[in-house]
Amino acid sequence: MNQKVALHTLGCKLNFSETSTIGKQFKQNGFEVVEFSEKADVFVINTCTVTANAEKECRQIVRRALRNNPNAFIVVTGCYAQLRPEEISNINGVDLVLGSNEKFNLFSYVDSFQKKELACIYVSSTEELNQFGLAASSDADSRTRAYFKIQDGCDYKCSFCTIPLARGLSRSLNESELINQFQDILSQNYKEIILTGVNVGDYGKALDTNLYKLLLKLIALEGDYRLRISSIEPNLLTDEILTLTKNSNKLTKHFHIPLQSGSAKILKLMQRRYTKEYYFDLIHKVKSEIPNVGIGVDVIVGFPGEGEEEFLETYNFLKELPISYLHVFTYSERPDTKAITMEGQVPINIRRKRNNMLRILSEKKRHEFYESLIGKKVEVLFENDNVNGMMKGFSSNYVRIVHEYDETLINKFTEVLINKISDPFAKGEIIGQKYSVDTVNV
Ligand code: SF4
Repeated sequence: MNQKVALHTLGCKLNFSETSTIGKQFKQNGFEVVEFSEKADVFVINTCTVTANAEKECRQIVRRALRNNPNAFIVVTGCYAQLRPEEISNINGVDLVLGSNEKFNLFSYVDSFQKKELACIYVSSTEELNQFGLAASSDADSRTRAYFKIQDGCDYKCSFCTIPLARGLSRSLNESELINQFQDILSQNYKEIILTGVNVGDYGKALDTNLYKLLLKLIALEGDYRLRISSIEPNLLTDEILTLTKNSNKLTKHFHIPLQSGSAKILKLMQRRYTKEYYFDLIHKVKSEIPNVGIGVDVIVGFPGEGEEEFLETYNFLKELPISYLHVFTYSERPDTKAITMEGQVPINIRRKRNNMLRILSEKKRHEFYESLIGKKVEVLFENDNVNGMMKGFSSNYVRIVHEYDETLINKFTEVLINKISDPFAKGEIIGQKYSVDTVNV
């Protein structure tokens, strides 16, 4: 009988796609991949450093795994393992700690999955984080959308962020390998590919190319698919990318553009690479260039020095911007960052209150955006889940649409005329299925 492995991911979509690659290594070595709730022989936990209480969270998951099988071999990897290997090796029951480079060659670090008294640690130093682990995964609940890692690491120095320490400098998948992988994903019949990375807009830096040139090549490939950029730093969203997005029906009409703070003072302390004026102009440009574009925004509340005045500056800035939704993060102190040493740490209860206020604002923004689309046509990719007779899908401009379940709509680009809002979804009438050959005017 095959040995069984169960995997658990904390954190971002990039981590999810990398967990999927770790799973593949196990399958190639004769393992069966099972649910985390099963009695697996090996449990792998892919950690994150962005989540608050990373250690506590990791400890709880290790305990959960050991409840399922007290003799299981426990592997912990990912960003948190890279940054705090000793801390993790001291968690009861952990057998192996692997850093960011090592997780892609897991089997070269274990000869047998036998528990020993002490945990083994294999973690390269940050300076050595230069490997590029291939990773792609499907959206867990859809089988229609695939996350595809094209870039890793970051050269920026945002004062709150430990990702550059956990993942190293910016590096990209070379173009020919990328196109091979991309075609492999297409051959599995995924219709939406989400280009993922730590700083996707930085793609190609050391390769003498850039994201725009890559997008041009990808949309020239034949096939019935669309591309989404998971997130792009404001300073990297160029006019070329914008024009290409406007003119190509293979590029989704959606951008996720981190802001982090709407206060000039806080943006500076965060060491972000743009001003609020630049961000304001960018959002308006995107909105006026691309009709009905969906715009998502990351924002952090409770950064040191964010008093009531700075928070309200952020709140009002966001309120006035023509954006569609927010992803709100609460600042939490991270060792080895500049921000942890800054004055004016914000009490936790105030951070929570601000988070809540922005979440409510996000709901309002989403509702207003959906409402602005009533009577308009959107292109939806319906997923295969049937929940109480209903199915859901995302439009190109990132509207969540629900519709009565219809098998013939699954994994097809479908035109929907939006006619109703039913928070947090929109509803509409099916106009038809379509896919027209891409025409690009650049
Ligand atoms: S851009 Fe800033 S926040 Fe994003 S990964 Fe790089 S350093 Fe971190």
